Amino acid sequence: MAGSGLFVTGTDTDVGKTAVAVALVRGLMRDGLRSGLRVGVYKPVASGVPPGGAAGSDVARLWEAAGRPLSMEAVCPQMFSAMISPPRSARAEGRRVDDALLRSGFDAWRDVSDIVIVEGAGGLFSPLGDATLNIDLARDLDLPLVVVDAARLGAIGRTLAVVRAARAEGLRVAAVVLSQSEPCGGSRDDPASPMTIARESASDLADRLRPVPVTMLAHHATAIEPDLDWLTLARSAAQRAVDTTPP
Ligand SMILES: [Mg+2]
Repeated sequence: MAGSGLFVTGTDTDVGKTAVAVALVRGLMRDGLRSGLRVGVYKPVASGVPPGGAAGSDVARLWEAAGRPLSMEAVCPQMFSAMISPPRSARAEGRRVDDALLRSGFDAWRDVSDIVIVEGAGGLFSPLGDATLNIDLARDLDLPLVVVDAARLGAIGRTLAVVRAARAEGLRVAAVVLSQSEPCGGSRDDPASPMTIARESASDLADRLRPVPVTMLAHHATAIEPDLDWLTLARSAAQRAVDTTPP
């Protein structure tokens, strides 16, 4: 079945979306090696990428993780230099984000991928173009969400706010990943240590969001633990009727 996918979104900018998307792609590539699973990657728009400077960017990281499918331009057809919201970054160059291309850029991946991992830009309600928020694109592409938050104090509130808002707008949440973008040290016995806060936040969210799985990407880790069956999750979440149960 071609064309299933997941839309990786955040509770805010800089919460670890790319690290999670890359780990997710790597896991799929590793597990799908024998079956020849084709993993597509799509970043509808990126800012903070100067001309010729895509190396090391989110776009390049996604492309490399997926084994360099198609081209970097297919991964991200619209890149702008200034590290600000994409519509403002485009305007700073006298350009505009092409709202139609945000959607049609995904088509390049439909027939050549068994699953496409899409990484949005910013948070779920952040603008991608003048007329398109991340949530609008996720809805139009009909993709379930993977909600990423930073594994630090406030994760429960930030994550529930985004999950409830997404559901209120009719979107499906396939999974939540807490990303440790900073070292989460400290003692397990200390209730206020970053390590305990991360662990307890994940466990609290898992209880509140069940059956939606809540998992974790540790600082500098390459794999999500526990890893999930993303392929099945993408397919079953896509087939499930809209879940209106409040978290
Ligand atoms: Mg990113």
